[in-house]
Amino acid sequence: MPDFDPLLMIPGPTNLPPEVREALAGPGCYHRGEQMRELLERCTRGLQGLMGASGDVLTLTSSGTGALEAAITSFLSPGDRVLVVEAGKFGERLGEIATAFGANVTSLAVEPGRAADPQIVADALSEADFRALLTAYNETSTGVMHPIRELASVAREAGAMVICDCVSCLGGVEVQADAWGIDVVCAGSQKCLMLPPGLAFVGVRDEAWAAAERSEMPGYYFDLLKARAKLRDGQTPYTPATTLIAGLAAALDLIEGEGREAVYARHAAMAAATRAAMEAAGLRLFAEEGARSQTVTAVHSPVDSVKLVGYLRDEHNVLISGGQGDLKGRIFRVGHMGAVRLQHILRTVEALADGLAKLGYECDAAAMADAAGQAAEPYASGAH
Ligand code: PLP
Repeated sequence: MPDFDPLLMIPGPTNLPPEVREALAGPGCYHRGEQMRELLERCTRGLQGLMGASGDVLTLTSSGTGALEAAITSFLSPGDRVLVVEAGKFGERLGEIATAFGANVTSLAVEPGRAADPQIVADALSEADFRALLTAYNETSTGVMHPIRELASVAREAGAMVICDCVSCLGGVEVQADAWGIDVVCAGSQKCLMLPPGLAFVGVRDEAWAAAERSEMPGYYFDLLKARAKLRDGQTPYTPATTLIAGLAAALDLIEGEGREAVYARHAAMAAATRAAMEAAGLRLFAEEGARSQTVTAVHSPVDSVKLVGYLRDEHNVLISGGQGDLKGRIFRVGHMGAVRLQHILRTVEALADGLAKLGYECDAAAMADAAGQAAEPYASGAH
């Protein structure tokens, strides 16, 4: 990548591989023509593979939040009781959207940095007749992954449908919507899928459509029943972002070419490398052990993380993120999603070591890099 491109180690948008850039720069295409039908079919098949979903996958022209809104307004009705796992900013957002459209929201607060406990979720679900459980799989604001299989399982036992925000992990970690019992999977283009922002995806289990037929929530642009009907003709209800769909086909080809399992193993390796480097610097990870994300690592910052983020941007052309809300200034987050490889982690580690030292926290850059390389090694050799 040329030097003037910043290295995007934020939790999205992520770096664009050359193949994706080339596809994005291709000629325009008619959105109701044969070429778009073929592209949409290819993309739908690829997304079904990533979601482990045999049902419909709708492609929407919006950022990831559009997928969340589409899921909530298409499958719920005003007054429906929903339980929302709130372990950070994105769990909170699910609750905000559901509230905005009139659902009866109960929030289950989870301490930031911790994952939701399935037993506690089961207990909460048993207290009322909940229509749905709304949760993120990967809570990007704290670097936590919830035990989604177990959460989905307790929700199904309680008769609640499962709407899951996979915006910051689809394509980077395994998702098996059918097998795990997730009714609705939401995702976005600018994270593990290596595209610019602008597309959102909603995967729907066949059985969930009955809830859409009953739904009384208002909605127009994000009406998934309309999107499903149009998909049967290889189209979308409104003009889609055609260039992004061409880019998506290229990104999905890259994932298939590398192999889904290999892509997930690479994400696990990059996560392990990042964590090891941080611990070698004597830093504390924000997420509890056992719940640490494979796509974003959150770290307690020994210096003002707003300054650290600015220093890395200005002096190293490396972009990482700070904390959001209450965590502003207190943590920093390194995204390792999409096309990220060890060389990118090592460049980030070097920049971080320099930035931390400049701001008064001495750490051993060489030890950090060694720890990163060693932690990634078992994955590279297939021994993990
Ligand atoms: N959900 C999660 C888990 C996210 O990480 C994000 C974005 O970072 C979103 C939802 C919102 O996506 P967007 O900003 O594309 O609307």
